Amino acid sequence: MTVFNLGSINTDHFYRLAHLPAPGETLAAQSYARGLGGKGANQSVAAACAGAEVRHIGAIGPEGGWMVERLTALGVDCRHVAQLETVSGHAIINIDAAGENAIVIVPGANRAIPEALAREALAGAGPGDVLILQNETSLQVETARFAQEQGLFVVYSAAPFEADAALAVLPHVSLLLLNEIEAAQLCAALEVSLESLPVPAICMTRGAQGALWLEPEAGRRIEAPAFRVTPVDTTGAGDTFAGYLVAGLSQGLDPASAMRRASAAAALKVTRQGTAEAIPSAAETEAFLQ
Ligand code: ADP
Repeated sequence: MTVFNLGSINTDHFYRLAHLPAPGETLAAQSYARGLGGKGANQSVAAACAGAEVRHIGAIGPEGGWMVERLTALGVDCRHVAQLETVSGHAIINIDAAGENAIVIVPGANRAIPEALAREALAGAGPGDVLILQNETSLQVETARFAQEQGLFVVYSAAPFEADAALAVLPHVSLLLLNEIEAAQLCAALEVSLESLPVPAICMTRGAQGALWLEPEAGRRIEAPAFRVTPVDTTGAGDTFAGYLVAGLSQGLDPASAMRRASAAAALKVTRQGTAEAIPSAAETEAFLQ
């Protein structure tokens, strides 16, 4: 069972500033840090931490080799990550003294993934394997359709939310992952309730309120309460949950058990600063669940 992830790989550039720059202002940063980011990379790391065999499908630019090294060190198979001439996807994250931020995202290579790459990656895949995808790359519709034809379980994390992208991918989706805001946006775009979304299964996360699994046709509804923790940094909670959930399902866990473990991993992540590098291991998650 392999988890394929068509996903973004970003460099997060963090600049600490006395205040966010005003229009026309030039400001020296107090400090700079660089980190591995992107929803795709975070979800791959989470699934690998959960013990799944994860193959990332994506692209980086000429200066992005260090991200492949980090992903590989974190347990993600990067044989389907292409190095292109286009700049790597990156985020410029300005943070002021009060913790307020202003972010610029450059999709770069994430939106230039060669079509042949995704097809080649999935050529030998079939039933039992899983494809997960989000909205930060190109090729979502083609790849989801191809994976569906090959008999893979297709999981779509509809974030960052884009109505047109979501509507185009939905017919090829086995399980839709959303947070509460994305769910409201999608329901508004389609003018339907959550129960009427045209997919076999939906998992909606609700921050500290936990998560909800719905299979409308089968009349199945499962709630997974969140674990009570003192939040330090909630960035990446959704990606940790998504990676752990997909890994759990691919390992044969039932939805309730997979959600419980995903909730524990996400709760642990929330107690730590950072994203990809702060995702807990399977052993840490199991210990937390004892
Ligand atoms: P996103 O990061 O995509 O907005 P959510 O905020 O819904 O996603 O969080 C995803 C999951 O992470 C939740 O379902 C929950 O299990 C866990 N989680 C998030 N915030 C907290 C919190 N404050 N305390 C405990 N668990 C949390």
